[in-house]
Amino acid sequence: MSTPGNAIALNARASSDYVIKLAEAQAVLAQAAAQYAGSDGKPATVTQASSLGAEDVVISHMINSLRLDIGIFVLETGRLHKETLALLEQFKASSRAPVTVYTPVNESVIQFVAKEGKDAMYKSIDLRKACCGIRKMEPLERALKGKDAWITGLRREQSGARAEVPLVDTSEKRTKINPLANWTWGDVWHYIRENQVAYNPLHDQFFPSIGCEPCTRAISLGEDFRSGRWWWEDEAAKECGLHVKAEPATSSLLSERVSA
Ligand code: SF4
Repeated sequence: MSTPGNAIALNARASSDYVIKLAEAQAVLAQAAAQYAGSDGKPATVTQASSLGAEDVVISHMINSLRLDIGIFVLETGRLHKETLALLEQFKASSRAPVTVYTPVNESVIQFVAKEGKDAMYKSIDLRKACCGIRKMEPLERALKGKDAWITGLRREQSGARAEVPLVDTSEKRTKINPLANWTWGDVWHYIRENQVAYNPLHDQFFPSIGCEPCTRAISLGEDFRSGRWWWEDEAAKECGLHVKAEPATSSLLSERVSA
């Protein structure tokens, strides 16, 4: 069992080129705000997807401190930790940028739980994906409606599947902007410390990646960043769909793992 620690004390070590990476991330965000600016009273066509994890609070802090016209959305699945919900309230109250919370369709959740049970995600991969479909994917579709681009906290270091994440990914219909693509975990925590950014206290209990409460656990030293998510499934099965990637025509559709 892990002893709670302080994520800042443990992790806040910037890499030697941190200043360059910081400037690059800020420039990417500023460019996105300009490129996807709203017109005729309509909102910008770019938005940030935030899970309120460490990377996402850094990006939101940049959006707010640079006073960029970029809205932020959070998927409140109905299964988030109480710590995440508390941070969400704090974030909504303090963010300059508008924060929109998307929740699942109540009737769909009620029907699914009545038929499969509250913790159906442990029964099979199909049921876990069905739960993600109702609680995450459908709300995500609503959140991204009318948007040409979205901003995520994906980093190359997070897992092998993300080793090639570009700063700006135009390979899909909707552009995905990953301003922290080449940041290290130490860079993320250095920014949090330097800017006194509010973060999820679960990070102090060795939760590097925070999702829904039933599907997230603390990790131990040496474990992969993402090993605390859907830990009972095979690595290859850890698909959720939030970051669906279309492969070349010869391949079928593959899903990357979810960051939110
Ligand atoms: S992460 Fe778990 S609880 Fe959350 S939507 Fe997916 S299966 Fe359901």
